[in-house]
Amino acid sequence: MSVPSTARVVIIGGGIVGVSTLYHLAKGGWSDCVLLEKNELTAGSTWHAAGNCPTFSTGYGVMNMQRYGLELYRGLADEVDYPINYHVTGSLRLAHSHERMMEFERVAGLARHMGLEMAMCTPDELQQHYPFLELHDLEGGLWDPLDGDIDPAQVTQALAKGARTNGAKVIRFTPATGVSRENGEWIVHTEKGDIRCEYVVNAAGYYAPKVGEWFLPFGGRPVPAAVMSHQYFLTEPIPEIAAWSKENGRKLPLLRDVDTSYYLRQETSGFNLGPYERNCQTAWTRPDDPMPDDFSFQLYPDDLDRLEWYIEDAMARVPLLGTQGVSRNINGPIPYAPDGMPMLGPMPGVPNAFEAHSFTFGIAQGGGAGKIAAEWIMHGCTEWDMWSVDPRRYTDYTDKQYCIDKAREVYGHEYAIHFPHHVWPAGRDRKLSPNHDRIVELGGQMGAYNGWERANWFAAPGDDTSEEGTQTWKRSGPWEKRVREECEAVRDGVGVLDLPGFSRFSLTGDGAAEWLRGRIAGALPKVGRMALAYFPDARGRVLTEMSVLRHGEDDFTLITAAVAQWHDYEILKPAHAEGLALTDRTGEMTTLIVTGPDSRALFESLGDADLSLGWLTHQQANVAGKPVLLVRVSFAGELGWEIHASFEDMPAIYDAVLEAGARPFGMYALNSLRMEKGYRAWKVDLSTDYTLLESGLERFVRFDKPQDFPGKAALLSEKQQGSAKGFVTLIVEAEDCDAPYMANILKDGEIVGEVMSGGWGYRIGASIALGLVRSGLTAPGTELEVEIYGRRCKAAVQPDQPLWDPENARLRA
Ligand SMILES: Cc1cc2nc3c(=O)[nH]c(=O)nc-3n(C[C@H](O)[C@H](O)[C@H](O)COP(=O)(O)OP(=O)(O)OC[C@H]3O[C@@H](n4cnc5c(N)ncnc54)[C@H](O)[C@@H]3O)c2cc1C
Repeated sequence: MSVPSTARVVIIGGGIVGVSTLYHLAKGGWSDCVLLEKNELTAGSTWHAAGNCPTFSTGYGVMNMQRYGLELYRGLADEVDYPINYHVTGSLRLAHSHERMMEFERVAGLARHMGLEMAMCTPDELQQHYPFLELHDLEGGLWDPLDGDIDPAQVTQALAKGARTNGAKVIRFTPATGVSRENGEWIVHTEKGDIRCEYVVNAAGYYAPKVGEWFLPFGGRPVPAAVMSHQYFLTEPIPEIAAWSKENGRKLPLLRDVDTSYYLRQETSGFNLGPYERNCQTAWTRPDDPMPDDFSFQLYPDDLDRLEWYIEDAMARVPLLGTQGVSRNINGPIPYAPDGMPMLGPMPGVPNAFEAHSFTFGIAQGGGAGKIAAEWIMHGCTEWDMWSVDPRRYTDYTDKQYCIDKAREVYGHEYAIHFPHHVWPAGRDRKLSPNHDRIVELGGQMGAYNGWERANWFAAPGDDTSEEGTQTWKRSGPWEKRVREECEAVRDGVGVLDLPGFSRFSLTGDGAAEWLRGRIAGALPKVGRMALAYFPDARGRVLTEMSVLRHGEDDFTLITAAVAQWHDYEILKPAHAEGLALTDRTGEMTTLIVTGPDSRALFESLGDADLSLGWLTHQQANVAGKPVLLVRVSFAGELGWEIHASFEDMPAIYDAVLEAGARPFGMYALNSLRMEKGYRAWKVDLSTDYTLLESGLERFVRFDKPQDFPGKAALLSEKQQGSAKGFVTLIVEAEDCDAPYMANILKDGEIVGEVMSGGWGYRIGASIALGLVRSGLTAPGTELEVEIYGRRCKAAVQPDQPLWDPENARLRA
């Protein structure tokens, strides 16, 4: 097929994800779109995938993406009139421990929230679902009735047919060879000619880093991903399975022994066994083993030795597996981003370019991924908040070795439980505070935040700091005593938190204030003051929150979460086109939070700051003889200041603050302290799943200001008609575990909302949950329940004010 000279969108890559993106664009009315595939469709990872389609996920966005995709697949064959072998067999996940059962309870709750029914199973129930199962070492399991397997090539072809029917073009055997940019348009080059287009999508699967290189001259970054070699094998037919299937008229459910780390599926009348082995292997990472230009429809050599331990374990679990030999092994490339999640969304730094690659469960997720990619392109936003897969979640610290180390870690722990206090060890120490060594010396137990190492808590000599010590869902652990002490030090004395990596931008130039007013929902602070500002999207949902410090009429510093650096820069980037100067100064300064009732005395002893200046002011001052920007604010909710200083000067300042009596505290303490104040955390409590009004931020919205701002009309209409949901603070009668993210909130047994943040408040001595519930249930005193790992705990709505120091008297002291 010849290539057209123009198109609205060009998608590079004809695996399931690229094709699904094309299908959704065409269904959305964008028929003038082209997909380029270098070989035949599915030639990358898609053709050899096992085709398992779970709905299971521990994250809301991804589970939603899978829920939507599988729903689409169930009706797709009829919709486009293309046959698809899709077996909805249901699946069992096996639990070897109480902790795993708790994880399943949590996921079953998440599923219920979106209308999916998963069921907890006793060992006997497992055997009823799966008669060939041995029950040794099992606590129980989880039944997912919608799991199954689909033919990956057929579903891709069906999506392609649907796309073509709606007017889009699929052009096979036509590699894209590069991109250039002219007059604000992309030109995608091929050997058959150039295509001029508005938008371009990198859906090149494991080749995505190669395609990504073409975007480097246009503001792009090296794509953070590594390729793993992933295997499964098929057995010869097994008569007992054939007989069972014949008798029952269906296939056996899919089995996942997640603690051992493999899946086992019926394939015709034999088995398909696919482990995720600890001794896993990356591919194409060494200079003497580069990625070939073309690996279409090829596989790696078999390497069954690597799987031996898993095969033996599976044979003990389902002895039928051992009755027949291996008929075929598949060892293929699978791309891994550093956290094993897809890269799906805007390409960082590059205009009108999107990414949809690095899928490890691309068959299960492809249907939903296409919807999300198409929404990004057509509407500039997505229906659900998809931060967990947004490519901007990674910034400049992901070099090749980091990607390899993380890919190996994630692949080797594909099914691992993600405990709330567990910190993954690979790929660490990418970005260090100038105080790092000192903090580690003081017992700092570190965690990575956008690559920056920060202390989560400070251990005392003799405390258990092992990784095993964190393998618990419970609040209590080696850290708890110390976190309590840290919170008490902040409450009663003064604490110091070293906080490198705050994202920091400076925005200056004539008209900067006016430009910002047209972007944020609220008002700007006066010169010398700071304020929180919320950036809504066109639907009035929370895109981001920034602290705005005003130095002059048109001179601002904007400070935001560490992980928001690239995301938020892109929100501010249009300022360039208005002639304003926008600079990312994240790497120029670092921060200490010094807070607690004794903090004023501490600063009096250390410098020349004017400590009479009120809450939410800032000033240039000297602390320990070093020039600093001193901001009177405290995310911990006590009297306090943030010290912003150069990297060079900070060690002397930190030492002086410690010597003056401040106790170091960590991120766990800060999280507890901020929840007691009801302060929201970005992408935890604040996301594009909710509007500003639903998020309880009306006091930050100025409907009466003359400037228009994104989402103003939507928010006004919501205000007139009433919000669907409202933000609440709950006190929960939790036992030993606090409410996890997305725990269900119930009223009379019915799900009426969800928890965003949950944790213990050490100053108030209670378990707190911040969440959203149906409006009508937000009145103080309303009695609700919160589902914590399957246990329903009583909860009561609190007055709409901070739990700690409701009048903010301590902050203003
Ligand atoms: C052994 C194995 C088993 C698996 N089992 C499962 C499973 O059970 N369930 C599941 O959900 N997932 C599974 N996966 C993962 C799944 O295969 C992938 O997530 C999925 O196929 C990714 O699809 P994609 O469209 O992103 O990439 P790909 O299928 O790799 O497609 C990318 C396409 O881009 C094309 N391309 C690259 N460069 C260019 C260019 N310059 N110009 C034009 N075209 C280009 C390639 O030819 C390729 O066809 C498995 C993977 C492996 C290796």
